[in-house]
Amino acid sequence: MTVEAVTPVQFTNWEKPMNILIILAHPDDPEFFMGGTISMWSKLGHKVSYLLLTKGERGLSEEFSDGDALKEVRQIEQRNAAKLLGVSEVDFLDYPDGFLEVNLENRRNLVAEIRKRQPDIVVSSDPQTYFHTHYINHPDHRLAGLLTMEAVFPAAGNRGFYPEQLEQGLAPTKIRELWMSLTVDPNITLDVSDYWQIRIEALKKHVSQIGDPGVFEQVWNQRRQEATASDSLYYEHFRRVILRV
Ligand SMILES: [Zn+2]
Repeated sequence: MTVEAVTPVQFTNWEKPMNILIILAHPDDPEFFMGGTISMWSKLGHKVSYLLLTKGERGLSEEFSDGDALKEVRQIEQRNAAKLLGVSEVDFLDYPDGFLEVNLENRRNLVAEIRKRQPDIVVSSDPQTYFHTHYINHPDHRLAGLLTMEAVFPAAGNRGFYPEQLEQGLAPTKIRELWMSLTVDPNITLDVSDYWQIRIEALKKHVSQIGDPGVFEQVWNQRRQEATASDSLYYEHFRRVILRV
């Protein structure tokens, strides 16, 4: 990680409480990718909810070695973490962890989920293939982003797509903004330093995934220091697309 070359901003320019839907692949992705921003948005009065596309059954370890049991554990962990960040609703689809697919059936399903919730803002993860110079983006993270993009535009807001959903009471919804987390190509960087500790506490709710919580916290404090050359600053980065004003 390198020291920030960007200027972080305080995010204040939404004129009313927003309905924000975060669509990501796995339990723990919201806290890892953007936990500070989620806590900040909740504190500012926005309604934040999660839709996780899988139940994370492949996050196995010696201690948690049964995929079906792990699904149950991870849903509980995710709800506990979300509660700490002020998130009102957490829902899970049950696509297979590690094998998320971008296909027309999944796009139709996701459009229905979005129309059901009528969000102003949708957040996912950037479908980039590489992450910085030496990581490959996890296929589920990449495909969750791609599937969300395809569902948001043009389908969710266009009554020509899936007219049968209209008959089921799922009205088209034009999303105002799409935010992509975990991006290497950000156009907005938020200063969420005040929310660092609550993010760490939320991450520590993912007991099955983090190993020793003391070591975990130490490692992440170190990473923050390296990323910002400071032990008091913490930024989160997004690609923000304004679809309508
Ligand atoms: Zn993940």
